[in-house]
Amino acid sequence: MKLYLDDTFNKKLPADLNTSNTRRQVFDAAFSFVSPRIPSCPKLIHVADEVAQLLGITDSVTKSSDFLNLVSGATIYPNTKPYAMAYAGHQFGNWAGQLGDGRAINLFEILYNNKRWSLQLKGAGETPYSRTADGLAVLRSSIREHLCSEAMYYLGVPTTRSLALVTSGDKVLRDVLYNGNAAYEEGAIVCRVAPTFIRFGNFQLFAARKDIKNLQLLADYTIHYFYPEITTSGKDKYVQFYQEIIQRTLKMVLHWQCVGFVHGVMNTDNMSILGVTIDYGPYGWLEDYDPDWTPNTTDAEGKRYRFRNQPDIALWNLVQLGNALYPLIEDIHAMEEVLNGYSKTFDLEFPKMMQQKVGLTSNYDANFQDELTTLLTISETDMTIFYRNLANILKNDSSEEALAKVEVAFYQPENIINDLKARWVNWMKSYLEKIKAENFSDEERKQDMNLVNPKYVLRNYMAQMAIEAAEKEDFSVINELYVLLKNPYNEQLEHEKWFAKRPEWARNKVGCSMLSCSS
Ligand code: AMP
Ligand code: MG
Repeated sequence: MKLYLDDTFNKKLPADLNTSNTRRQVFDAAFSFVSPRIPSCPKLIHVADEVAQLLGITDSVTKSSDFLNLVSGATIYPNTKPYAMAYAGHQFGNWAGQLGDGRAINLFEILYNNKRWSLQLKGAGETPYSRTADGLAVLRSSIREHLCSEAMYYLGVPTTRSLALVTSGDKVLRDVLYNGNAAYEEGAIVCRVAPTFIRFGNFQLFAARKDIKNLQLLADYTIHYFYPEITTSGKDKYVQFYQEIIQRTLKMVLHWQCVGFVHGVMNTDNMSILGVTIDYGPYGWLEDYDPDWTPNTTDAEGKRYRFRNQPDIALWNLVQLGNALYPLIEDIHAMEEVLNGYSKTFDLEFPKMMQQKVGLTSNYDANFQDELTTLLTISETDMTIFYRNLANILKNDSSEEALAKVEVAFYQPENIINDLKARWVNWMKSYLEKIKAENFSDEERKQDMNLVNPKYVLRNYMAQMAIEAAEKEDFSVINELYVLLKNPYNEQLEHEKWFAKRPEWARNKVGCSMLSCSS
């Protein structure tokens, strides 16, 4: 197997001089060299063919034992030196100190077709950053990460990718609900792919330790390889860097709001410096439109990471990143100015996105949007089905006919009566007036709306069905969902069954509406 290797992170940045794989605080280093644990019986479950292509890995190679050995951690590719990154972070709003890659091991970087890709195994054993945990991952969470990374990519959301999913053959002990009922589960490994896995927390670690030399080295490295458009120097260079990260992060979060994705653990160590979605843990998809929903049981009380909070939390995280970068800039005004750009861009782009979702190009106002948000919330409406079916409304429909076209999105249609029904009819009336005032045909509007309103997302219960089948050695659902989610905006008549509301069995089921960090 020939790979186009081009390591930079573990060559340009300082390594931990201690090469023993013991848990500890690591100083003066961006990473520690560490080898993946050898799995007892690795088995390839799924390969994302397009990710392999990105890396210059052919189909026949993905079927080879060399490939399985690589993505399971069984062998180390010649002339490479795997490593775990050092980083810190704020978890649920509190400073948590050193965290680091506790169960992620970076293998190497590939430079192919002028694009740089870093490959990382998640769940391949302990590292110096594993703290009190085992460095492993279970099959259910690995399926969720593998499928969702790819689904997000095809939705157009900036994200890390996932090359392959393997089971290790080893058993892993997990207490899913943290209630004293630990049980053994099947171990698995996901091979993640991204230009780099550097997080906000990598910068925070050096800043917290007042290690300004390494802070600057890391910033210069990141800019050189991943922000080549930045050509200024001195403090301006870091201001521009900060500004770029702010804008990219905002773009990512707007995408999340557009498709109804809830990350679930937006800690600063889970924020990519490239503004791509990273670390798929207890994430979820909004099904019934509840802006206060968080999939993460660990977050059930404070609901810090609920759907509607995501843009504010991203900003909070960016402020923490700003604090970390401050020693390189030492100009509060310049930093505040670029940070203010977040809210300015948000106030401009968010309504634009919401407007696009309903297919309007003008004549749009906040009251109209607010009433829709309220109605969606109080009516227990399926977000994906509602927006997708809204595109079927015709200018000549009556308000009642228009409402009938989205009715299937209501979880309890029998509750849409009296005042609530009157409000919906009223909203439809003003919607019909607005679309009539536009210069687009019904077909043109539908086409535009279908570009931003996906027909298929990885609903929580769908991932759960893939998991339950896989736990019985049936991997067909993983394959089926992978193929389906490659074209989320297209009609796929053969897959119509997945364009359906969450079934009742999934309403309060663990793994569907409730997920824990235990993975
Ligand atoms: P997360 O909230 O999953 O992003 O994880 C927070 C921190 O805990 C990171 O430093 C992870 O590497 C670490 N971590 C999570 N799960 C494990 C595990 N099973 N073994 C070792 N470290 C872990
Ligand atoms: Mg993480």
